[in-house]
Amino acid sequence: MECIFCKIASGEMPAKIVLETEDVVAFHDINPQAPVHVLVIPRKHIARVADMTADDVTLMGKIIYAGKQVAEKLGIAEDGFRLVFNNGRNGGQHVYHIHLHVLGGRAMLWPPG
Ligand code: AMP
Ligand code: ZN
Repeated sequence: MECIFCKIASGEMPAKIVLETEDVVAFHDINPQAPVHVLVIPRKHIARVADMTADDVTLMGKIIYAGKQVAEKLGIAEDGFRLVFNNGRNGGQHVYHIHLHVLGGRAMLWPPG
């Protein structure tokens, strides 16, 4: 198993965990781009949003719901936050295991670079 996020989900690789459920794990990004930068991943390995199937729709909802819970837990829910899925090369994806970026603690810029 070469996927680093699968290793984090299984506990084989350490991470600063924020929350865990049966289906998803949330942990602090190792190279934060904002005062709060957390990644939410499914335990199931899916490489990209482009690879999800209709069977994954409920799971993707659980990822977004966990993002909301992370925002509440880390105190950024009221001021606002950004949820991002990078997908593929042009989307700026570097780790090919689906992850939701939860970014907050400062005002985000728009449009993104
Ligand atoms: P992306 O560019 O959307 O694929 O995002 C990958 C993210 O994973 C980047 O923000 C990295 O800083 C982060 N990352 C890579 N390796 C680790 C790790 N071992 N623990 C936590 N975050 C990581
Ligand atoms: Zn994986």
